[in-house]
Amino acid sequence: MTENIEECVVVGAGAAGLSAALTLGRGGRTTLVVDTGRPSNLATTGIRGLLGQDGRPPAEFYAAGRRELLTYPSVTVRNDEVTGGRREPDGSFVLTLGSGQPITTRTVILTPGMDYRYPHVDGIEERWGGTVFHCPFCHGWELRGRPMAVLADGAVGAHGALNLRGWTDQVTLLTNGPTRLTDEQRGRLSAGGVRLDERPLLTLQGPGADLESVVFADGGELAVGALLVKAGLYQRSSLAPDLGAVLTEPDEMLTVQAITVDPMGRTGVPGLFAAGDAATAVPPSMASAVASGYLTGAAAVVQLAVGS
Ligand SMILES: Cc1cc2nc3c(=O)[nH]c(=O)nc-3n(C[C@H](O)[C@H](O)[C@H](O)COP(=O)(O)OP(=O)(O)OC[C@H]3O[C@@H](n4cnc5c(N)ncnc54)[C@H](O)[C@@H]3O)c2cc1C
Repeated sequence: MTENIEECVVVGAGAAGLSAALTLGRGGRTTLVVDTGRPSNLATTGIRGLLGQDGRPPAEFYAAGRRELLTYPSVTVRNDEVTGGRREPDGSFVLTLGSGQPITTRTVILTPGMDYRYPHVDGIEERWGGTVFHCPFCHGWELRGRPMAVLADGAVGAHGALNLRGWTDQVTLLTNGPTRLTDEQRGRLSAGGVRLDERPLLTLQGPGADLESVVFADGGELAVGALLVKAGLYQRSSLAPDLGAVLTEPDEMLTVQAITVDPMGRTGVPGLFAAGDAATAVPPSMASAVASGYLTGAAAVVQLAVGS
């Protein structure tokens, strides 16, 4: 049995979903926000680089976002999971929730974030979001001046290592095995003062979540205080393709499976929108999640009023 009919369901209440819901609430649209409560940056102590919020603990930011929605009576937030969905012949959507209740809605905004997959090396998991990071703009300032390493290879590794010199003058590129760097890339690294180490890694070392060195399989050690790793961003579920959205081709730099959208978050399926990390073609950030959530919320409000 269908529980109720919404004008919009927002899947995920991270920065993008909360921003979209705020816009829908201000547009007076009946909106259900469904959230499993696992925004990708919860591992960090502070959000960095978001104007007006720099250094704020993530959990505090999300709580404040939810509080702001209380002003708008047409918006409801539910702690639950959207487990599946389909588009009906009449253009509406039926979504199923973990709690078992189906919801019918005229529009859907997908803001479920992404699964950040980092390399499997012993010692990375417990340091993720602190001394091991994927984004120098999020963590570089706090770790500046330490000897740093980059765990990646090829164009991504060369780019990451050269870029990191903005925060430290001691950078080593770790390829964890024989490198596939071109001669040209090697030349640029060497000219830029970046060292190259191809030895396979064994583990990271340091007290608690701190990092003091990487240990190689041959027993050697390199003193580093921070490690930049290449993370791949993957969809957290098959919901987007199940509803008819198209995923992008893998991008070598970061995003592996973004939802294809236009600048207003329209997927090409009438009534289906996406924003935030799940739909980003640019390096993911809180600022772009807030911005794209806002634009997508506005596009949904217009769609509900105007029909396109
Ligand atoms: C460790 C780390 C540190 C970072 N630090 C920074 C930083 O300092 N500055 C910065 O600008 N960016 C940072 N980022 C990037 C930033 O966190 C993301 O770009 C941003 O959180 C994306 O927002 P989002 O709303 O798209 O997704 P998310 O914040 O991931 O939120 C998605 C929400 O949807 C929920 N959800 C998922 N699937 C479902 C479902 N099926 N049903 C219901 N709910 C669902 C999730 O539980 C989650 O609550 C960091 C990322 C990581 C991984």
